[in-house]
Amino acid sequence: QKEEWAKLKDEPTFSQDGVQVELVANIGTPDDITGVINNGGEGVGLYRTEFLYMGKNELPTEDEQYDAYKSVLEQMKDKPVVVRTLDVGGDKELNYLDLPKELNPFLGFRAIRFCLENEHVFRPQLRALLRASIYGNLKIMFPMIATLEEFRQAKSILMEEKDNLRSEGVEVSDSIEVGIMVEIPSTAVTAKQFAKEVDFFSIGTNDLIQYTMAADRMNERVSYLYQPYHPAILNLVNNVIEAAHSENKWAGMCGEMAGDSIAIPILLGLGLDEFSMSATSILPARTQIRSLSKEKLAAAKDKILSMSTADEVVEYINSME
Ligand code: PEP
Ligand code: MG
Repeated sequence: QKEEWAKLKDEPTFSQDGVQVELVANIGTPDDITGVINNGGEGVGLYRTEFLYMGKNELPTEDEQYDAYKSVLEQMKDKPVVVRTLDVGGDKELNYLDLPKELNPFLGFRAIRFCLENEHVFRPQLRALLRASIYGNLKIMFPMIATLEEFRQAKSILMEEKDNLRSEGVEVSDSIEVGIMVEIPSTAVTAKQFAKEVDFFSIGTNDLIQYTMAADRMNERVSYLYQPYHPAILNLVNNVIEAAHSENKWAGMCGEMAGDSIAIPILLGLGLDEFSMSATSILPARTQIRSLSKEKLAAAKDKILSMSTADEVVEYINSME
């Protein structure tokens, strides 16, 4: 099996009936790129930049960040690299930032909420990204977007920094896509409105599932409710993909679900364009997708979306193989 996977390393990803999707990787540091390339990744679908900020006693400087982003972009050549801006809070703490102790950290002051109120943290990251943008195919993504105003505000700060850099004589790419993570149900439900303004969506199912099912992703006692195949989740995912396509935008997924062999046929049938997963899942996923008929799975879409339970969905998917 390993040999079969190796042969697919430099191949694009097609379903049995010839529909192309993109298989990209989740990374945490520039050092992860070797693994992405060795495992046949067609790009980076989620660069979790938190690691630059963790395990130290102060904020990373703009130049430190620039070096990291430039390194990732250069190593990936012209392949897409989706960088997520800082997503601290929730499960990710930073002692030097003095974040408040909260009763419900997952529902609290984190990610884009924190960045919009702390521009001295947000702007240097955006500047570092913009400066690095000329070295590859950069896409910028904001985490934990709950409202359109948040996206507009984040994007306008980004555009301001772009103008600032240009007036300082610094070159910035003209073709940076700006998108959002869809990991909050309000955004999944109103994806149609977002789709007019964002360049792409990346569905963060790790959080989307916990918020939709009201089941903490770290709490064992309620893990039985953490159900990726629950029809509620699948309907939200479908809504996001349909909204993206109605505006000629693309929809990806960067939660764990994107690399899951039961979810992959469902997601292919729903029309997901980009699957971002840990690098080691890419070749198995490519092998699986080559054996799947997108048309057949798409024909089962309404049936799957109207099912009542996750078990019913899983049973049906298993019966299709
Ligand atoms: C997600 O929420 O699905 C996601 C990819 O982000 P993280 O796991 O970093 O919260
Ligand atoms: Mg998340």
